Amino acid sequence: MTRFMQLIVFVALCCSLSAAQAFVAPEEKHNVLRSDDNGRPASTRAIEGVMSSADILEKAEQVIFTADGSRVSSVRGRFAFERRESSEAAVRAFLLAHRSLFNLPDDRSMLEFSGDRSGGGSRQFNYQMRICDIPVEASEIAVYVGNDNEIVLINGSFPIVGEIANSISLDAAAAIAIAEKQLGLQKRRVNSSAERLIHVEENVGRVCYRVHVAAAQPLGDWELLIDAESGAEVSRRNLMRFYDGKGSTYVSHPLKCEPTVETLPDLIDGTLKGRYADIHNDETANAVSEDGTFVYPTHNLHFNEAMMYYLVNRVHAYFSGLGFDRLDSPMKAVVRYDVLYDNAFFSVLENALYFGDGYKFNDLAREESVCFHEYAHAARHQIVKLKYEGEAGAIDEGVADYFSASLSDDPIVGEFIVAKMNKPWLRNLSEAQHHYPESIVGQVHEDGKIWGCTLWDLRVRLGAATADRLVLNSLYYLSPDATFLHGLNALLLADENTSAGKNSAVIREVLAARGICEENSRRYIFSGRQIRQIIHFESLHNN
Ligand SMILES: [Zn+2]
Repeated sequence: MTRFMQLIVFVALCCSLSAAQAFVAPEEKHNVLRSDDNGRPASTRAIEGVMSSADILEKAEQVIFTADGSRVSSVRGRFAFERRESSEAAVRAFLLAHRSLFNLPDDRSMLEFSGDRSGGGSRQFNYQMRICDIPVEASEIAVYVGNDNEIVLINGSFPIVGEIANSISLDAAAAIAIAEKQLGLQKRRVNSSAERLIHVEENVGRVCYRVHVAAAQPLGDWELLIDAESGAEVSRRNLMRFYDGKGSTYVSHPLKCEPTVETLPDLIDGTLKGRYADIHNDETANAVSEDGTFVYPTHNLHFNEAMMYYLVNRVHAYFSGLGFDRLDSPMKAVVRYDVLYDNAFFSVLENALYFGDGYKFNDLAREESVCFHEYAHAARHQIVKLKYEGEAGAIDEGVADYFSASLSDDPIVGEFIVAKMNKPWLRNLSEAQHHYPESIVGQVHEDGKIWGCTLWDLRVRLGAATADRLVLNSLYYLSPDATFLHGLNALLLADENTSAGKNSAVIREVLAARGICEENSRRYIFSGRQIRQIIHFESLHNN
């Protein structure tokens, strides 16, 4: 018995002792039989495939199985093969002579030669499995012939296809239409395409369309598998390569920390347009860095861009964590907007954020709470388009302040930007004096303090995790002209429908303490009896 065969016996014993453990690689440099990392041991069938090929057993230096242990992933060694009329015919004959090792079907038409190429000192012959002329997914075999004309490596094997379980009733155009609808496609970069393939799961094949959608919105190079009979979505992947870079930022703002270099996640192409943020500079050309390094001193005109990219990704991740996915596309944010512009805003028409450098204010792009506040407006707008006046506008501002403060875990909003005016903060959600209705002055930011402070009170009572979800979920129950009383209803309904109403007593208590309760909104509320009286009165006087 060769050393390699002894190894296989050892391995088979390990399998029977503990099916859940991967192989332990032996100390020898050669003759290593193993599955990929974290995988299961090779199946009995896969090991039998190796055992049945005596010459492969003898000459193999290494056999690797796929991670699930079901089949061979690669065989390395030195294997002579017989001369034929062409090199391809000879390689094909070698594969067919070891058909059980590579799961080759008996029908030879299923083994399709898909081309050869040279590189790295060897010639590579590629094969693909086809059933009824439809390629089978993940069925590539590559045979490498070294420069001394021996086979040195075989990568891949065929999947086992017991049956094809569906038929084709859709054409390519229908599959593309389904894929684009499933994606919620708003804008494509180039036309979508579709091709048939056989998708194999648990030894059962299904004919699918592999649809490619190069989308600007939602951003990605999407690949969807659509069942050719039912139109069901089988799988979805984004092939676009995102990478992490790094950039300069203040993690909070210049009064709280020194600038640091932080990770800039999900970059795409050497600019600060990534998966969830698209940063523009209104004063100079946008920053460019081939290797994803956006590190600048604070006086550099690009510093705000790197910081804004960092902040927008942080606030995106925060909302994502709350289950919100309606802004999963690059949010446009413009820094150094205008000249010494003293504000920041969310543009409803553009779905974009703008930040001025400030004149009376300090630079509005350099404080986390300003960015978080504007982004929260954008998120809220995806749920309900609140009017920007009256109590609806105050709820809008209060909610934006709440999310900003909660994410930065600090009730103070706008501390840095107003420091230039010797003020301690722009707004502070822990202030006690804002009370309904006497604090109403008719200005959305001022009146928004009542709602923002109320939500912060809820956070103090319920904890950030519960309050954040409650506030977000309440937005779904609001209409564009919502009042604080509608806001109370919305919080109660969100709690009732997501937490079985277990926080309703606290919600009522906290809001009543700020004056938001039915008693203070009597002029809006009528009982059924009152309404019947009004109708009766009207009918008497209109006749
Ligand atoms: Zn605002």
